[in-house]
Amino acid sequence: MGRLDGRVVVVTGAARGQGEQEARLFVAEGAAVVVADVLDEQGETLAKELGPRARYVHLDVGREEDWAAAATVARDAFGKVDGLVNNAGILRFNALVDTPLEEFLQIVRVNQVGVFLGIKTLAPEIAAAGGGTVVNTASYTGLTGMAYVGAYSATKHAIVGLTRVAALELAPQGIRVNAVCPGAIDTAMSNPALLDPAADPEAGSEAVARFYRKLVPLGRIGRAEEVARLALFLSCEESSYVTGQPFVIDGGWLAGVSAR
Ligand code: NAD
Repeated sequence: MGRLDGRVVVVTGAARGQGEQEARLFVAEGAAVVVADVLDEQGETLAKELGPRARYVHLDVGREEDWAAAATVARDAFGKVDGLVNNAGILRFNALVDTPLEEFLQIVRVNQVGVFLGIKTLAPEIAAAGGGTVVNTASYTGLTGMAYVGAYSATKHAIVGLTRVAALELAPQGIRVNAVCPGAIDTAMSNPALLDPAADPEAGSEAVARFYRKLVPLGRIGRAEEVARLALFLSCEESSYVTGQPFVIDGGWLAGVSAR
C-alpha cells in the first residue's frame, strides 16, 4: 500500500532537483505522475525510467496554453488530475537597484505567474476528481528577506499569499493547499557547478560544508529527498486536516541567530 495509491499528480520543474525527487517518491508511493518541465531530454528520460505511471510533458509554467495542454495529457494518460506540486522556479542574484525590469519580470513570470496558472488550470480538474491537494514551492526567502535575491524573495512571498488565498477559496471543493519553504537545498539552483560536466564535484566542497556548518543549526545543507518527503506528507492523507500553511524545511536556519 502506497500513500498515494490511485492519485494522479502533476509535478512542475520535475526534470531535476527537488521536482525530480518528488516525482520519484510519488511514483514509489503509488501515484501516477506527470513530469512537467522545459528540459525535455531530462524529463523524457526520467519519465521513461519511472515506467508506465509517469508521462513527460513540456510545460513552461508561465504559458497558459502549456498548462491547458498538460491538463489534457494528464487526463488522456491517467483519466484525471487530483494533485499538483508547483515546484518549478528560477533564481537570479542582483541588488535591487541593479535589477533590470526584464529580469524582475522574468522571475515573476516563472515563480509567481507559474503558480497562479497552475492553480487556475488544475484546481477545477482536482475538484472534478472529488478533491485533492496542491503543494506550492515557496522558500525560506518567502518568509524573511535575503539581500541580493530581491525579485526571487518577492515572488516567494507572493507564493505564500497565493497559498493562503487558494486554501480559503478551494476548501469547499475538498482541495487542500499548502506551501513548502526550503532553506538551502543541494541542487543545481544553490550549486550551479552540479551542471558543469567540467567542474570537479569535490572542488570547494569543504569550504561549502564549513559555510553551512556555521550558518545552519543542523550543520549541513538540505537534500532534495528531504523536501520531497515534506511534499509527500502534504499531498497524502496524513495531512488531512492541514491547509493554507507554509512549512519551513531549513535545518533550523529561520529559528534565529546563534551567538556562537
Ligand atoms: P533546480 O534549478 O534544479 O530545479 C528547478 C526546475 O525548474 C528545473 O528542472 C528547471 O528546468 C525548471 N524550470 C525552470 N523554469 C521553468 C519553467 N518556465 N517552466 C517549467 N519548469 C521550469 O532547483 P531546485 O532547487 O530543485 O528548485 C525547485 C524549487 O525549489 C524552485 O521553486 C526553487 O525556487 C525552490 N527552492 C530552492 C532552494 C534551493 O536551495 N535549492 C531553496 C528554496 C526554494
